[in-house]
Amino acid sequence: MTDTADVIVLGMGVGGELLAEHVADAGLDVVGIEAKLVGGECPYWGCIPTKMMTRAANALAEARRVPHLAGNSTVDPDWSPVAARIRAEATDTWDDRVAVERFEGKGGRFVRGTGRLDGPGRVQVGDRTFEARRGVVLATGTRPAIPPLPGLDTVEFWTNREAVEAEELPGSLAVLGGGAVGVELAQVFARFGSKVTVVERSERLLPPEEPEAGALVAKVFAREGIDVRAGVGARSVAPAADDVEVELDDGPPLRAERLLVATGRRTDLAPLGVASVGIDERAHSIPVDDRLRAADRLWAIGDVTGLGPFTHIAVYQARIAAADILGEDTPPAEYRALPRVTFTDPEVAAVGLTEQRAREQGIEVRVGMADLRTSSRGWIHKVGNDGFYKVIEDPRRGVLVGATSVGPHGGETLGLLTLAVHAEVPVDRLRWMIYAYPTFHRGIEDALRNLREG
Ligand SMILES: Cc1cc2nc3c(=O)[nH]c(=O)nc-3n(C[C@H](O)[C@H](O)[C@H](O)COP(=O)(O)OP(=O)(O)OC[C@H]3O[C@@H](n4cnc5c(N)ncnc54)[C@H](O)[C@@H]3O)c2cc1C
Repeated sequence: MTDTADVIVLGMGVGGELLAEHVADAGLDVVGIEAKLVGGECPYWGCIPTKMMTRAANALAEARRVPHLAGNSTVDPDWSPVAARIRAEATDTWDDRVAVERFEGKGGRFVRGTGRLDGPGRVQVGDRTFEARRGVVLATGTRPAIPPLPGLDTVEFWTNREAVEAEELPGSLAVLGGGAVGVELAQVFARFGSKVTVVERSERLLPPEEPEAGALVAKVFAREGIDVRAGVGARSVAPAADDVEVELDDGPPLRAERLLVATGRRTDLAPLGVASVGIDERAHSIPVDDRLRAADRLWAIGDVTGLGPFTHIAVYQARIAAADILGEDTPPAEYRALPRVTFTDPEVAAVGLTEQRAREQGIEVRVGMADLRTSSRGWIHKVGNDGFYKVIEDPRRGVLVGATSVGPHGGETLGLLTLAVHAEVPVDRLRWMIYAYPTFHRGIEDALRNLREG
C-alpha cells in the first residue's frame, strides 16, 4: 500500500515535531512517523526531567548552605527522602497523546512505527510505503553509546533513561563518563544522598570545554564528596553480590550499587536505510548543507546531523529546513556562535571557540579571565560563588570568537556573550558598555579588561 504526502517526517522528537507542525500549519499534507514518544529524548529522558532533578538537587544544596551563610556550618539535615519524591515526579512530565492531538489538529497524519528510507522520497513503515512529493525529513536523533567494555553484558546498568526513571536512590553510584550528562547526573545523585564516583578517561571532566571549567567542576565535586577519577579508563565490569565492580586502568577497583553509563551518544544509520539515497551507512552522522539538505528530496535535522547534540540546535535547524521546504528565504545555518550549557552547580556555559580550538584555526588569540569569587556579587553570594569568565578575542578583527561563563547562573549570563559572538560586536563597544551592579555578569567587563596575548 502506497500513501502520498507533501512531506514525511521520520522521527518526531524535538526537531521533527516542530518542523512537522510548522509545515502542516503552512497547509502542507504531512505524515509524521514516530517509533516511541512524540517529543523524543528531551521531554522524557533528557533536558526537561534532568533539569527538574537539577533544580531539586540545587535547592537542597542551597538549603544546606544557609548555615554557612549564617557563620554556622554544623546543621546538615537529611533531605534525601524529599529529594527522591521530587525526582520521581520528574519522570512524569510530558504527555505524548497531547502532542499527537496537536499535530493532528493541524491536519498532520500520525503514524506510530519504525520507519526506513526506501529510495529518494520514500519511507517504509512495516508493510506501508509513503511517498513524499516535496521530501523526507530525517530527525531520528541518537541513542546512548555503550562502550565495548568486557563484562558490561553481565551486569545491569543505567543509561540516562533508567537514571531518570529510577524510583529508589542508590546508596552508591559509579558514573562512566565525565561529559555533560555524566557530571549533571553525578551531582544530582550526590546531592540527593548517593555516594558517587565519576570515571573519565580524558585528563579532565567536560573534555570539549576550557580546561579551567573541568578543573573547577572537579574541585567543587571533591568538596561535595564526589570522587572524580580523571585520566582513568574502565577496563572491565563484573557483578559483585548486589553491586557492580568496575576494574580501572589505574588504582583499586570501584564498587557501587548502580552503574551509570554516560559515555556519549551514537546513531546507527544502516537501519534507517540511508544507503538507498546514496549516504554512507557507516558514517557517524548525516552530512547536510546550510539548508539542512542531505540528498535528493531529503533533509536531516537534529542530533543525527552531528552538528551539536542540543535541543536548541534541533529546533534551529527545524526552522531553517521548514523554510527551505516551504520555499521561504532565511539566513543559512551557521554554527559559529553555538551555545552549550552543562547544568551543574556552578553551571558551565560556553559559546563559540575555546582558546585551543581558536589557536588550532590559526587565530593569534588574546585571552581574558575574571574570577567570580572576587567580584562584588561573588563576595556577596559567598558559599557557592565558584566561577569565572574567560573570553577569547581575535585581535585582528577586534571581536570575540568564544567565551566561557562558569558560575551560579552561568547559562543565563552566557546570553550576553552569545550575542557578542553571534553579532560580532566590537570588543571596544563591549568594553564601554554599562554593566549593572552588583551582578554576576559584571565579571564579563573584568574579563574584557584583562585581555592579553597568551
Ligand atoms: C540526559 C540528557 C540531558 C540533556 N539535556 C539537554 C539540555 O539541557 N539542553 C539541550 O539543549 N539538550 C539536552 N540534551 C540533548 C537533547 O535531548 C537532544 O539534543 C535532542 O533531543 C535532539 O533532538 P532530535 O529531534 O534530534 O532527536 P530526539 O529528541 O532523540 O528524537 C528522535 C526521535 O526519533 C525517533 N526515531 C528514531 N528512529 C526512528 C525510526 N526509524 N522510525 C521512527 N522514529 C524513529 C525516536 O524514537 C525519537 O523520538 C540532553 C540529552 C540527554 C540524553
